Amino acid sequence: MKEVRLRFAPSPTGFIHIGSIRTALYNYLYARRNNGKFILRIEDTDQTRFVEGAIENLIKSLNWAGIEIDEGVCFDDNGNIIQKGEYGPYIQSERLSIYKKYINELIEKGYAYYCFCSKERLEKVREEQKVKGLIPRYDGLCRSISLEEARKRIANGEEYVIRLKLPHNKDIKFHDLVRGDIVMNTDDLDDQVLMKSDGFPTYHLAVVVDDHLMKITHIIRGEEWLASTPKHVYLYEAFGWESPQYVHLPVVLNKDRKKLSKRQGDVSVEDFRKSGYLPEGLVNYLALVGWSPEGNEEILSMEEMIKQFSFERVAKTGGVFDKDKLDWVNGHY
Ligand code: GLU
Repeated sequence: MKEVRLRFAPSPTGFIHIGSIRTALYNYLYARRNNGKFILRIEDTDQTRFVEGAIENLIKSLNWAGIEIDEGVCFDDNGNIIQKGEYGPYIQSERLSIYKKYINELIEKGYAYYCFCSKERLEKVREEQKVKGLIPRYDGLCRSISLEEARKRIANGEEYVIRLKLPHNKDIKFHDLVRGDIVMNTDDLDDQVLMKSDGFPTYHLAVVVDDHLMKITHIIRGEEWLASTPKHVYLYEAFGWESPQYVHLPVVLNKDRKKLSKRQGDVSVEDFRKSGYLPEGLVNYLALVGWSPEGNEEILSMEEMIKQFSFERVAKTGGVFDKDKLDWVNGHY
């Protein structure tokens, strides 16, 4: 049987958020439940958002929470960052030549195209669409440029990005293990930029290439990525690869059913660690924000959670993060 492989793929943009550690936790629980692997991959292709020390913080927070990294980026015995596993490197900025190879394949097969539109032109198009009440998206001007002409323009030093060439009016279907079947039409999607002018891939290309090459079987991530998944599914089709299984988790809300925000404080794992919360209490409580064990117990060890974790009991709607409840759970440790 195929090894079950899950990954947590954060961007190193600061301290790890409560919602993100819950995502990591569900990936970890499912991996352990199925004797699989839990992989940490760093998604740092947006270099403008990189925060010094963020990778160390991510690993520290996962270690603190008791989430063990089997493969990918982790600490060695001396506390140095290493990348372990046969499918690495697991830091995306160290994989640029891999993405280049695959973007070229898409170009050759006609699934992607060079786009030379300036920022000013894109801005203008967007403004016009907004005025007409349309959802702003790329108008496809560069879709008809032949490969030959594009290559000439590149040789002349013109700046470009590479976009996904989505077919018109095609339904893209996929199954979410919690939400069921989902269908989106390509006419509602943008010709996503896959490679930026600086030669870095965007998240969309890198995530598909890496999840495939790292043999990821299940992707558990936040629902903010739900609208991106059809593009990814289409990319899997374009490459002729099998798509992994998906779960999109509802957001973690505060008591007023609003998104947790930095302004209200206590949104990073680091905040809770510093305030003296016990990792077991935080992890136990967080697991219950969006998942309920069969017997509805409220105090569970990591081992008990692993034994019981299943997608069937993951909620379809936003879970509420209630600090009073957290304090109550924390008090039991
Ligand atoms: N890098 C993305 C994030 O930080 C990962 C999304 C995914 O899991 O595919 O949210």
